[in-house]
Amino acid sequence: MAWTRNVLRVNLTKGTLQHEPLNMQWAMEYLGQRGLATKYLFEEIDPKCDPLGPDNKLIMTTGPLTGTMAATGGRYSVVTKGPLTGAIACSNSGGFIGAEMKNAGWDMIIFEGKAPKPVYLYVENEHAELLPADDIWGKSVWETDEILHKKHQDPLLRIACVGRSAETGCLYAGIINDLHRAAGRSGVGTVMASKNLKAVAMRGTKGVGNIKDPLGFIRATQAGKKILAENAVTGQGLPKFGTQVLMNVINEIGAMPTRNMREVQFEGSSKISGEAMHEPRKSDGKPNLTTNAACFACTIACGRISTIDKGHFSVQNKPQYWGNSGGLEYEAAWALGSDAGIDDLDALTYANFLCNEDGFDPISFGSTLAAAMELFEAGIITTKETGGMELKFGSAQALIWAAEVVAKGEGFGRELGLGSKRLCEKYGRPELSMTVKGQEFPAYDPRGIQGMGLTYATSNRGACHLRSYTVSSEVLGIPVKTDPLVTEGKPELVKAFQDGTAVVDSTGLCVFTTFAWTLDDIAPQVNAACEGEWTTGKLLEVGERIWNMERDFNLAAGLTSKDDCLPPRMVKEAAKTGPAQGLVNGLDKMLPHYYEIRGWTKEGVPTQETRKRLGL
Ligand code: SF4
Repeated sequence: MAWTRNVLRVNLTKGTLQHEPLNMQWAMEYLGQRGLATKYLFEEIDPKCDPLGPDNKLIMTTGPLTGTMAATGGRYSVVTKGPLTGAIACSNSGGFIGAEMKNAGWDMIIFEGKAPKPVYLYVENEHAELLPADDIWGKSVWETDEILHKKHQDPLLRIACVGRSAETGCLYAGIINDLHRAAGRSGVGTVMASKNLKAVAMRGTKGVGNIKDPLGFIRATQAGKKILAENAVTGQGLPKFGTQVLMNVINEIGAMPTRNMREVQFEGSSKISGEAMHEPRKSDGKPNLTTNAACFACTIACGRISTIDKGHFSVQNKPQYWGNSGGLEYEAAWALGSDAGIDDLDALTYANFLCNEDGFDPISFGSTLAAAMELFEAGIITTKETGGMELKFGSAQALIWAAEVVAKGEGFGRELGLGSKRLCEKYGRPELSMTVKGQEFPAYDPRGIQGMGLTYATSNRGACHLRSYTVSSEVLGIPVKTDPLVTEGKPELVKAFQDGTAVVDSTGLCVFTTFAWTLDDIAPQVNAACEGEWTTGKLLEVGERIWNMERDFNLAAGLTSKDDCLPPRMVKEAAKTGPAQGLVNGLDKMLPHYYEIRGWTKEGVPTQETRKRLGL
């Protein structure tokens, strides 16, 4: 059990809603959430379809542990074909809406077609209906949330929606739930808006009681919580500093991408770090960080809630930004900060507020801005294109301006909203785009952390740290310490992290648990909750099956081994400072062996034996 076994199918073109049983054979093979929804998507759409056309589908999906008492069991994912990459897209979010969906009795909601007019889906347990969205279309995430709460007179309604950036075609728009949690990457919000679907409002009161072995589940989840509490990262570092605990660490080891990844260390990192968020500001004596925060059932509580100094230039005369809201996580602080050379913590926080308010991915946005800044420095983009704004590295004014025009989809904001690949191609310098498969890099320079180069190149949704976080091993020594500057052993490491993460993303749990847990800690929780036998070995097989299925989806969509590459800067321009000084990423040394241990051909295609072994 643990699955509700219910799927809600919403045909937006026809305006019909249909209940159908979950395919339990697939659940046994793909578990839930990322794995199971990708199986549904692959079976139901042509991978070559236009991601923003009516033939693409959008699946909101929970895992079997979502909504349970398992620590961090509040995750949900959105699976679709991504508009930024043309590849499979799966974005995962915390907050509370995933648990609410499970409590309403649904494992999965499949949206198909395109509504003739803007609509939103209202769900209250088994009752679901499509309602007109005329009054919320064109509104921000925060306005939409407020309007729907008032309209339904239900403060406990959980809302996931898109902002104006998605409506105006930003290709990296996400879906924001609970005001500042995001299914943020790969443009899943852009797909939602392309279907004229503005929001999903969810209320569930049924509870999640369908656990196979309730006593065993209590024991297994309690044991897991104890491990999380006693671990230095999940018990101390993340609650106190959030993921921002990494800012100074990554800078010190020379893997902090800076100024469009030209450099690997940022002189201003300490000013935008987790530690800096705790320090009282000189201007008003208050710290940036108000408190930490937890998603549903989370005992780690890595979330950041922050305020901006009311006198800061970004929010002067804008009282709507003077209160507490979602603060900077490491990825956002890096992308909005060091990648653009900016060390103004309040400016970064304001830009991050805008990313939440209008629903766009701070990683892709910051990285695209950094590319635009390099183009500006080279004189290729000028104030003529930007309407007068000087896009200089280090300019907090430029960051604020750029975030505002992307949020609203105005002027040059439309170009920035297409991502760095399309921007750099348009201006004749494609090599300046720090992307893989069209998606922007996250916050780890692969010259200083070699395994991350292979991670990015082979990631099924484009450059991403959440598909194989070898930083754990290469920097933090979890579960074993490996040398970040060598390529030996990295193909095996990347494969193990990719398969393991595919499992975690399919359970309903948060990947941050893996700073403390291995699959040996997760398997007893899944096994006590779900029908069938779930050992570590079986979970690993499920992870490998998911990874290969995603690969097959991408191959069917037209991607090839040529897309398993890095920008020339990463493999030709050596790091200038830090421990990796003189090094480029050794992708060419890692990729052939990676294909071999995956059981793929030299062209990166799963062999018939591999497909047979995994039941694909
Ligand atoms: S660890 Fe952080 S992101 Fe993960 S569930 Fe907990 S609060 Fe949410």
